[in-house]
Amino acid sequence: MIQLEGITKSFGALQVLKGIDLEIGKGEVVSIVGPSGAGKTTLLQIMGTLDKPDGGRIILNGTEVNRLKEKELSAFRNREIGFVFQFHQLLPEFTAVENVMMPSLIQGKSSGTARKEALDLLDFLGLSERATHKPAELSGGEKQRVAVARALMNHPSVILADEPSGSLDTQNKGELHRLFFELRDKLGQTFVIVTHDEELATQTDRTIHLVDGRIV
Ligand code: ADP
Repeated sequence: MIQLEGITKSFGALQVLKGIDLEIGKGEVVSIVGPSGAGKTTLLQIMGTLDKPDGGRIILNGTEVNRLKEKELSAFRNREIGFVFQFHQLLPEFTAVENVMMPSLIQGKSSGTARKEALDLLDFLGLSERATHKPAELSGGEKQRVAVARALMNHPSVILADEPSGSLDTQNKGELHRLFFELRDKLGQTFVIVTHDEELATQTDRTIHLVDGRIV
């Protein structure tokens, strides 16, 4: 599902990724751990085509993304990849269901279709009663589950999560992590999760240790 070959990336004089080779299979749940500044977020951003490497190849679900033009790339990203961040990044002026609809609307679906899909997903995640609430009216755990629902719109093959439980308390953390495994089991999605949470890392199928821009 994800194939990285010889990925390098520098910011100015600082080489942050020093040749990353990595293959992740369909339906794998993989964690990326390592000290602060090791390059974890940079690697995830490159994997998600939000940033470009200086060198190397990225093949996602059979497509060599470096070869896509900007417009094709953003359509590809919107279709194939769902993102979950530490801070939910929901739009505060929109309700839960409106936030979840966004990726579908961007893909050009009608608002009726997008709304139905979003409501189905919220229902699947146990959030139907929160559909018309705005982010400020939701708990931290609920906000993060709405963000997961948004990431699941368009049925992406890959979910990339950067410290998804970083702002949650222990109980909500556990629930979010269980949700990831449930989604993998039910929908077959591939998960790559940057985390400092050791308990989560031990539960994933594989843990990638990144230190100073290299996989160790
Ligand atoms: P981690 O996620 O492991 O903490 P990051 O990938 O966020 O590491 O950052 C790795 C290094 O790259 C850090 O030293 C950080 O300051 C630097 N860095 C990250 N993004 C940028 C950027 N856009 N411009 C300049 N330096 C950056």
